[in-house]
Amino acid sequence: MEITSGGATQTATIVPDSSREQVTLTVPKPLVAGPAKAHILYSGRLNDQMRGFYLSTENGRKYAVTQFEATDARRAYPSFDEPAYKATFDITAVIPNSDVAISNGGIASDAPGPGPDEHTVTFTTTAKMSSYLVALAIGEFKCLEGSSDGIPIRVCGTPEKYELGRFALDAARHVMHFYNQYFTIKYPYGKLDFVGVPDFSAGAMENTACIISREQLLFADPERSNPLQLRHIAQAAVAHEMAHQWFGDLVTMQWWNDAWLNEGFATWMSYKPIEQWKPEWNLEQDEVLATSRAMARDSLRSVHPILVQVETPAQIEEIFDSIIYSKASAMLHMVEGYTGPEVFRNGVNAYLKKHAYSNATSQDFWKAIAGVSEKPVDRILSSFVTQPGVPLVTVHYGCSSGVCSPGPCKNEQLSLSQRRYTYDRKLLNGESSELWAIPVCAKGNSQECTLLDKRNGDLWLVPPQLLPSQSRAPAVSLVCPPAYGNAGAHGYYRTAVSSDILGQQYFRELAASAETALTPPERIMFLNDVWAAVRVDRQDIGDFLSLAEAMRNDRSRAVMQLLNTELRYIGDYLLTDADQAQYRAWLRGLLDPVMDDIGWNPAPNDNEELRSLRGDLLLTLGITAEDPRAISESRTIAQEDLQGKSVDATLVTPALRVAARNGDAGLFEAITARLKSPRSPDDYLRHLVAITDFADPALIQRVLEFGLSPQVRNQDALYLYGRTPADFGVLGNPAARKLAWNFIREHWQQVETKVTRADLGFVVEATGAFCDPTSRDQVRAFFTEHPAAERAAQDAIEQIDYCSDLKTQQESKLASWLGRKGKAVPGD
Ligand SMILES: [Zn+2]
Repeated sequence: MEITSGGATQTATIVPDSSREQVTLTVPKPLVAGPAKAHILYSGRLNDQMRGFYLSTENGRKYAVTQFEATDARRAYPSFDEPAYKATFDITAVIPNSDVAISNGGIASDAPGPGPDEHTVTFTTTAKMSSYLVALAIGEFKCLEGSSDGIPIRVCGTPEKYELGRFALDAARHVMHFYNQYFTIKYPYGKLDFVGVPDFSAGAMENTACIISREQLLFADPERSNPLQLRHIAQAAVAHEMAHQWFGDLVTMQWWNDAWLNEGFATWMSYKPIEQWKPEWNLEQDEVLATSRAMARDSLRSVHPILVQVETPAQIEEIFDSIIYSKASAMLHMVEGYTGPEVFRNGVNAYLKKHAYSNATSQDFWKAIAGVSEKPVDRILSSFVTQPGVPLVTVHYGCSSGVCSPGPCKNEQLSLSQRRYTYDRKLLNGESSELWAIPVCAKGNSQECTLLDKRNGDLWLVPPQLLPSQSRAPAVSLVCPPAYGNAGAHGYYRTAVSSDILGQQYFRELAASAETALTPPERIMFLNDVWAAVRVDRQDIGDFLSLAEAMRNDRSRAVMQLLNTELRYIGDYLLTDADQAQYRAWLRGLLDPVMDDIGWNPAPNDNEELRSLRGDLLLTLGITAEDPRAISESRTIAQEDLQGKSVDATLVTPALRVAARNGDAGLFEAITARLKSPRSPDDYLRHLVAITDFADPALIQRVLEFGLSPQVRNQDALYLYGRTPADFGVLGNPAARKLAWNFIREHWQQVETKVTRADLGFVVEATGAFCDPTSRDQVRAFFTEHPAAERAAQDAIEQIDYCSDLKTQQESKLASWLGRKGKAVPGD
């Protein structure tokens, strides 16, 4: 270890500080001011932790792979391992003749030797970049090759899987062209490689020009894969990681507290090229679903703001959550709507140009957008970035004259008020200290917007030509459609109607006409608003179920997806034993006719949206409604799938899950046998997920033990013990929940070692699947004694509290609503 400065070379001593993951280099004499050169000879060992430079294995082959974000480059090589220290990198790999090496740079030379069975690969010098973006993957990889706008693009993987990369390659070619058009800076790195590796802890990683990912996020057979999985590959993996080449790689956040500048931007951008490529996927609806999930997390009392103070590696690890990704993305979407897309795009390009090959902060971004737009975008962004929580905009329907009563046009004027929404009713009903600058758009007679930056504000919805010039009061009486306060669903806020008679009247009218008055994204947001009001006892659960009835003819896949999720949640948590049968009967009455209408079995010309809708309905009917036909259809589909017959990909997962819920040891063995020889990475995953749905305690015990065995890769243990955005996993299964929690506690050390560090938070968070105070106390006591993923533990405890609060407030209302329904004429 030598340091040279001012022409003199000195040997340094090294003192490591493992708690800070740093070493201090000390030389005997002071260094001369100015540049110095440190020469460090070091060696390392490939670890088995999927962090740093690690070993991945498959079919007896060995792969050496890197994963450095956020603070693991230092595990592989000494560096100033913080994002603000950018450098160029020269990498050379000496590897066995049977292997290839893929890295950030192109190949400058590839020569035989130095050993008899070795070759030496030297890469071109990289662009100036942060240490966490360095990548190297070595092993027996094969690649598909393509190009776009003259940039070579490859998708590489193990010899068995790489050919399933065709779909990802097509997506990448489209995305490359789109981004080259959108950004004024063309893709700057000369080539782009995607590498799917057998073991990977995160989803995918945006290393400069060398994106490394899980196989499930890169390889799929378009003929046999679930369309939702293909979308996920195109948008959440390919387009997201490629957007990072600009947001993150070219311009990098100064420090991790601004991680949203990477993740929020890459998420926001990722929808655009795929919406253009595959308009029939309706991705704009999935974007609103993602926003509604972010809002759910943002409704917790202790949630962090987008801009979050972090210092230690453990704190940095914990912030990569839906707030940084989806909330930040939704906020950008809202501001883009406020400035107009072209102005926003100019602002984004100005920001990228100014900070290219360098670093930036939140302030740098909002200054750039405010400068270009000449609108108070800085106030909007700073209010959303620095304050936690989701705003609640309450709409009071005004009257132009006299006493308010339902009838002809009384909603010309909307009085708006804002406060923070939270599931914590004490906090919700107290003073709100937060104040946002919210671009609010409402639609009714017409669509109008305002910037709500005070506690209260007004919005007029009468077409301007009807307003007399001297006065803002409308002179003409109109028959108004009921107004909705989040037009286009572009706003990152919840809306509620006032609790007075007029407000409730308009709520009922809007609910009854939602299908025609609102677009699918607006219907998703409206459902989300109503469910949020139910959760804090501001609407009755009967209002939500009546809304579900009003929407029974809705055939939008994403709208029904949200509705189905909430209907399953109600079935799982809010029913007493006495209500179970009535709820199931009601649910069958609601959804069976929908299935009859769209057909229980796929027809040759069904589009992907309809096929996905069918799959979701099958799950709700089979699991929550215990519908005999759904169960028997599911059994048939599961058997055909397990016999190797080709089955519609949208039905396999729900059918396997429903069959498992009602299944025996024979089925368990058939599914686990399939796990040994899956057809593709996503085929593996859907069979793995299905085994968590068994109800038989003996089988659940086998699932829990299986998860810790070497048969399940560490990267996949999450799908069993955790609860990722969908509601699967042993803790999501009411029949398995208690048993699973006992097992996890008893085997905590093994579970903690098994799941990756990045996934540990998801497992801890999944314990929030309980809904009673006793379990809450157990969860709290356990994670106090075994500290792990502190934020996730806090979230879990809050989730349990709010669920049991919801149960207490709505249980009897639900029972009486179901009772009334039970007596009513069917179909009423
Ligand atoms: Zn990302």
